[in-house]
Amino acid sequence: MPSTYDRPLVLANWKMSLSLGASVALARDLTSVYEKLKLKEHLALALCPTYPALPQVAEILKKKSIFLGAQDVFWKPLGPYTGEVSPRVLAELGVKYVIIGHSERRQFLKETEAMVQQKVLATLAEGLTPVLCVGETFAERQAGQKDLVIARQVTSALSGVTLAAGLELVVAYEPVWVIGSGQAVEPNEAMETALVIRQALLDFFSADIVDKQVKIIYGGSVDPTNINDFVGRGLLRGVLVGGASLEAKQFTHLMKKL
Ligand code: PEP
Repeated sequence: MPSTYDRPLVLANWKMSLSLGASVALARDLTSVYEKLKLKEHLALALCPTYPALPQVAEILKKKSIFLGAQDVFWKPLGPYTGEVSPRVLAELGVKYVIIGHSERRQFLKETEAMVQQKVLATLAEGLTPVLCVGETFAERQAGQKDLVIARQVTSALSGVTLAAGLELVVAYEPVWVIGSGQAVEPNEAMETALVIRQALLDFFSADIVDKQVKIIYGGSVDPTNINDFVGRGLLRGVLVGGASLEAKQFTHLMKKL
């Protein structure tokens, strides 16, 4: 498969929005569309279904050029952690991308910055690619804290992290207040925030590593009408898509824009 580096990355985050049957059906539909329309020439696609659907979706994606992603992970490879899911098992299932620190987990599951950092380390240790989600709340934005919050979230998540050759990292700028709102942030603002993220990344990695092994993407109410405002603009090299990835026709329409 061609490297993901020359193509924009599109990650579909299905959250807990689909049943097992619907997840499998959508994976099948998207696989056939992706192949029929030769979309891999234009973008790298990853599907992130709910945990229990991973094995079946993995089977559908086998020998196809679509990547598999998980929506979360635990920070130990194995052990007595009831209810948690190991990064090693995700790797065994064929997962490549692991969403970490999504705002819904920070909000509803009280996931802390320390937990996010541990998850990033554990994910990289298994050779998987963390998709580190960062973003400010509306209150933080109103208080003029946006850039500080973003820099702090990136810095705390990457404490102790090194990116050996062959490992990759994705950082997704997801303003919390636009997720699921139907109204994406102004593209210029997303581009400016990508610069803040890059600056924070340069405290940890050389410019060469940032250019070659890290992708900054945008997420938050991306749909077919606005995707081109974000992908390939400034430092933004892809999107994380929630609501608009749940239905094959709309998501295909979105991908065809790239
Ligand atoms: C998300 O929650 O990661 C997301 C991008 O959602 P939506 O596209 O629905 O705003």
